[in-house]
Amino acid sequence: MPKVDLRPSKCPVCGTEGNAGELYPANFGMEAFNPEVFSARRLPDRVHYRIVRCSGCGLVRSDPAAGPETLSELYSRSTLEYGAEIPALKATYGRYLEKASRYSGRKGALLEIGCGSGFFLEEALRMGYAEAMGVEPSAAAAEQAVPSVRAGIRVGMMGPGLFENGRFDIACMFQVLDHMPDPAALLDQVRAALRPGGLVLVLNHDVESFSSRLLGEGSPIVDIEHTFLYGVGTLTRLMESRGFSVREAGPALNSYSLNYLARLLPLPAPLKKAAAGALAASGLGRLRMTVPLGNMYLIAQRPADREPGGGS
Ligand SMILES: [Zn+2]
Repeated sequence: MPKVDLRPSKCPVCGTEGNAGELYPANFGMEAFNPEVFSARRLPDRVHYRIVRCSGCGLVRSDPAAGPETLSELYSRSTLEYGAEIPALKATYGRYLEKASRYSGRKGALLEIGCGSGFFLEEALRMGYAEAMGVEPSAAAAEQAVPSVRAGIRVGMMGPGLFENGRFDIACMFQVLDHMPDPAALLDQVRAALRPGGLVLVLNHDVESFSSRLLGEGSPIVDIEHTFLYGVGTLTRLMESRGFSVREAGPALNSYSLNYLARLLPLPAPLKKAAAGALAASGLGRLRMTVPLGNMYLIAQRPADREPGGGS
C-alpha cells in the first residue's frame, strides 16, 4: 500500500479551499488505496471521500482527498479491465470525435490523455487522423497496445514539457478528467500542447444527470476514484476559467453491449447471473444499444492567438 497523503482539496474554478457544503461524509477505509480499486472500469465499491459542493461555483469535489503523489503511484500500478467493451467504447468515443472534428478544418495530430491500451488511438487513425499520440500512467495498459499505436504512447502522467507546445489539433479525455487531482494545471498543460484554434473533447460522468440525482450517494459515480464530479454547467465554467471557449456541451449517449448493461441492472445477484447467462448463451449479449446513462460531453477550443500588435 502506498503512503496516502490526504490533504484539503481546492476548487479549481474559484481557487478556494473550504468554502463548500458537505453532501456526503467519507465512508472509505485505508484498504481502498490499492491499484485494483484504481483500475479502469472495475465495478464500483461504493466507497468515497467526504464529498462537498463549492459554495462559489457549485462544483462537486472530494475533500480532503489523496494528493498527486499517491494517485500517480496507484495509477502507475493499475491494470486494465475494458475487455469486451472495447468495440462499444470505440463507437461512442468515435461518434464524439466526429462531432468535435466539425469545428476543425483538419484531421491532423490527436492527443489522448489516459489512453489505456490505445484502442481509441487506433480508432482515430482509422477515422483519418494523420497522427495519434497518448499519455498513460499504467505501463501494463500501454504494453497491450498494438504496434501501430504503441510508439505514440508515453508512459507516465501528463506534465509540462512532455510534448512540444502547439503540436496538437485536438486533445481528448474520456472518463479521465474526474480522476485528476489538479484539473486546472492539467488543462493549462493541454492548452499549451494545442495549436491556436485547437480543440478539446471531454467525456465523463455527469453529476447533474437524472440518474445521478435520483441515486444520490448510491450512484456508482460517487466513488473514491473521482476527485471531482462535473456537470455541464461546472465543467463549462472550469474550461472557461482556463481560457478555453466552449463550443458545445450536453448529456452524452453511450453505446454499451447488452452484456454490460445487464451488469448494471438493479436486480438480485441470482437473477442477474441468470440474465447474463441467457444473454451469453444466445449471443445477444454482444448486441449494442445506445443509451443515456449519466455521461456528458464537452467540446472546447483554444482561442486563436491575437494578431501581433492588432489589439487596442
Ligand atoms: Zn468553486
